[in-house]
Amino acid sequence: MSTIADNISTLAERIHRAAETAGRDPASIKLLAVSKTKPAAAVREAFAAGLRDMGENYLQEALGKQVELTDLPLTWHFIGPIQSNKTRAIAEHFDWVHSVDRLKIAQRLSEQRPETLEPLNICIQVNVSGEDSKSGCTPEELPALAAAIAALPRLRLRGLMAIPEPTDDRAAQDAAFAKVRDLQASLALPLDTLSMGMSHDLESAIAQGATWVRIGTALFGARDYGQP
Ligand SMILES: *Cc1c(COP(=O)(O)O)cnc(C)c1O
Repeated sequence: MSTIADNISTLAERIHRAAETAGRDPASIKLLAVSKTKPAAAVREAFAAGLRDMGENYLQEALGKQVELTDLPLTWHFIGPIQSNKTRAIAEHFDWVHSVDRLKIAQRLSEQRPETLEPLNICIQVNVSGEDSKSGCTPEELPALAAAIAALPRLRLRGLMAIPEPTDDRAAQDAAFAKVRDLQASLALPLDTLSMGMSHDLESAIAQGATWVRIGTALFGARDYGQP
């Protein structure tokens, strides 16, 4: 087995164990492979080992990989910060966007989603860790933003996404993810998705209801942000 295939089976075990501990069906938790900074060859290996959903943060990098991988039936998720001038390409080349945190971006994605494609699946990124995190709407902004996005014709609002402040304290992890779950439950909308949990905190996220865990390091190894 390749390292990536090995890592996938280790992750499947972690997800399975966390689901059982939480009394949840392991099949209700999906693994999103976060392939940022990793080459197309690594994505191809993950595909060969059974993964179909790939998450990317940087548009140009993602578009390049998509071109190299057109022969594979992959589902692409955009999970990074979104500038207005990137919305058209995102609307045209992705199936999901997990990182919508303001209405202007959602409106552009809806307007620019090609009629030939299914509505774009959307998660609203919410900031549950306070001031220092720049991405995500505030819990106070969420109800109005969710209602407005749910009304946009070419989008399908699926749920919430969050990246809590990293911590090894399990109680703090649980508190942050529980807040996301409770925020979702407080919206009177038919939502089925909680995108939360990364390599270091997926157990906590699953305990609090995650349906997508977004995994980079534990799947592809450490990222190298060194010289281009
Ligand atoms: C990089 C990234 C991940 C994956 O993080 P790991 O700790 O490497 O598993 C998940 N979600 C988002 C939004 C990311 O940017």
